Amino acid sequence: MNYLSTRGLAPQLRFSEILLGGLASDGGLYVPEAYPRFSEAELAAMRGMNYRELAFTVLSRLIDDIPHDDLRRLIDKTYIADVYRYTNPGENAEDITPLKTLEPGLHVLALSNGPTLAFKDMAMQLLGNLFEYVLDKTHGELNILGATSGDTGSAAEYAMRGKRGIRVFMLSPVHGMTRFQQAQMYALQDANIHNLVIRGVFDQCQDIVKAVSNDLDFKTKHHIGAVNSINWARVAAQSVYYFKAYFAATHDNGQQVSFSVPSGNFGNVCAGHIARRMGLPIDKLIVATNENDVLDEFFKTGVYRPRPETKHTSSPSMDISKASNFERFVFDLAGRDAAKVRSLWTAVESGGSFDLNADGLFGRVADFGMVSGSSSHANRIDTIRTVYEVYGTMIDPHTADGLKVGLEHRQPGVPLICMETAQPAKFEDAIREALGIEPVRPAELANLEAQPQKKQVMDADVHAVKQFIVDHAG
Ligand SMILES: *Cc1c(COP(=O)(O)O)cnc(C)c1O
Repeated sequence: MNYLSTRGLAPQLRFSEILLGGLASDGGLYVPEAYPRFSEAELAAMRGMNYRELAFTVLSRLIDDIPHDDLRRLIDKTYIADVYRYTNPGENAEDITPLKTLEPGLHVLALSNGPTLAFKDMAMQLLGNLFEYVLDKTHGELNILGATSGDTGSAAEYAMRGKRGIRVFMLSPVHGMTRFQQAQMYALQDANIHNLVIRGVFDQCQDIVKAVSNDLDFKTKHHIGAVNSINWARVAAQSVYYFKAYFAATHDNGQQVSFSVPSGNFGNVCAGHIARRMGLPIDKLIVATNENDVLDEFFKTGVYRPRPETKHTSSPSMDISKASNFERFVFDLAGRDAAKVRSLWTAVESGGSFDLNADGLFGRVADFGMVSGSSSHANRIDTIRTVYEVYGTMIDPHTADGLKVGLEHRQPGVPLICMETAQPAKFEDAIREALGIEPVRPAELANLEAQPQKKQVMDADVHAVKQFIVDHAG
């Protein structure tokens, strides 16, 4: 299986060659040359599989340059109840992604039982094991540099802690994350994890990461890498739980289901698109945004118009102005026409927008099952309250966005599965506002904020960050 760039000008590569990289050399994103498609017989055989077996069955079709025994071993040590252990009452940790039924035909898929209580652990934990494996083979080293405003940084740190050959340098703004999110990252004492707390805002953190990454000499010399949301392995690993959820919510493969997905960078819902391409009987993929509604606008109008500003909302992990994985979907929508994608993103990258109505491409969106909606702060508070009152289930603000928009598109006879992307314990302020009570936390994390913290506070200064990396990169 070769991977090719959505912009068509970069060399075709194998899975292991794109694993550690970011963008393709032509600025595009890597995608499989063709999506493998499961036959009816194969799908029937998958119905009885546990999470690990499903993960191997799906991922071995996308990863063919890691020996199958090794891939199986990496999967078998990732997707275990001990890693995804922060279950809620009534959930079986052995399911890895338990399906909660609110009422017949309406479900929530628990994706946030991992170490950081957000769905990013689903892919990131596997990424940590894949990175370690590949670096071990090549005797390589990797210094992961990133900026976070919340869930990505902690998921990366918990996935990479203690891994041979890997160090993490994670920049976070001094203000802007919840106390829980800060404590989750800064409490890690592992020698290979470095928290750089920047006196500034998230955008400054991100600018520093860009500046360091654009210094190609520095980047090469110090083996700088990233684990951002365009990473193909993350998207691929996320497609597995769509299969798991489908089999849990249906009785036979003649049925269709719809998924509602709280979306930011379009990674999660892109994984659903891939599962659908691979033959999973998905009716609708419902893209739910918050007030940052660049994706909702596209799926309603055919116009993609990244915004100059990002709004800060009460579902902060979906606060994006452009959706980095969206290009993978548009590549398929455009019939895999790389020249077309190049011209569209030339406009976007010079600050513009594009409109897919004129050439008829927008009319094809329905064939891909994509629909959308957005929600406001009042909507998510309302939804958290209603779900608690009606079903006795507490959901976080991101999941509330998904549920609100999902219900708007619900169709009789088609089970609706809403992706739970974080646990309410991470977003205490929103829960307090909606319900007037504190969310329950896993007992192990009760005193998280009181634990000693390992962090380095510094000014928003590229040179200071580079110097820190030089001093600690070994
Ligand atoms: C990252 C994140 C999202 C958005 O997911 P994308 O893959 O970027 O679309 C939604 N909710 C939570 C809690 C997240 O951490």
